[in-house]
Amino acid sequence: MPELPFIQVLVENLVREVVGRTIISVRVPSPSIVKTFDPPISALTGRRIDQVTRQGKLIVFHLSDGLRLVLHLMRDGRLYMAPATQLRGRPSTPKPMALGLMLDDGRELRVNESGPKKRAAVYMVPIQLGDTVEPLAGLGPDPLSEAFTVEVLTDAVRAQPNQLKRAITLQRYVVGIGNAFADEILWEARLSPFAPAATLSSEETARLYTAIRTVFTEALQQHRTHFGSTLPTREPVTLLRVHRHGGEPCPRCQTRIETVFYAEKETYYCPHCQTKGKVYADRRLSRLLK
Ligand SMILES: [Zn+2]
Repeated sequence: MPELPFIQVLVENLVREVVGRTIISVRVPSPSIVKTFDPPISALTGRRIDQVTRQGKLIVFHLSDGLRLVLHLMRDGRLYMAPATQLRGRPSTPKPMALGLMLDDGRELRVNESGPKKRAAVYMVPIQLGDTVEPLAGLGPDPLSEAFTVEVLTDAVRAQPNQLKRAITLQRYVVGIGNAFADEILWEARLSPFAPAATLSSEETARLYTAIRTVFTEALQQHRTHFGSTLPTREPVTLLRVHRHGGEPCPRCQTRIETVFYAEKETYYCPHCQTKGKVYADRRLSRLLK
């Protein structure tokens, strides 16, 4: 799943590639990617791309005459620029291609989605609707913005009956913390992903806040260095310290990183740094053993 630093670098590099270009035609090999019907996707034709921004993990293309195209890559969606040389004559449609925007410089901006589950989504959102409609409605502030304060985080965790990891990945209070970076942040803050969010002390909440800022700021710099000016397509696991590093030594204390699988999601944590030594049952494993 592309996470916030990945999407941020993708947007920064997309700006250089597509801002100022005009969309001259649209192809939708996978029509289910389009989640809105009014205006139709064909309304993209003839519009200039004025800006590209990020809202949480959403990518927002700001088009001429007040239209926005909002893209959620979900787990397997990726963006590619097909060079003009590939597109002479009748352009082919590679299998994973879900949406293609032909640009006036001869290149095509493509949303590809491999894998069996098609979850990537695009929405046409006229500017006059503001942020009151899906998928823009109800999103909290960006963790790297000034609007995200320790008070906002305090309200978020106090209101939550959920476990801490789930609480910080709800997009309502703070947007853009996904499964992988939640693990990175909680490890940095030395907090248990399984603790009830509402029990966090103010000292722990302050530590969590600092960890959110620090982890994203550092990861963003690392992602910029890693990807340079290219459009990111693979999340670099080497830039994560605990997520997807199960069985390896904790980078801080060398204790073995443990893994819990639940509801298609994996949680990685250090028992020594985060859970007072407690190792939680891997529910996937215990289900298999029954
Ligand atoms: Zn540790």
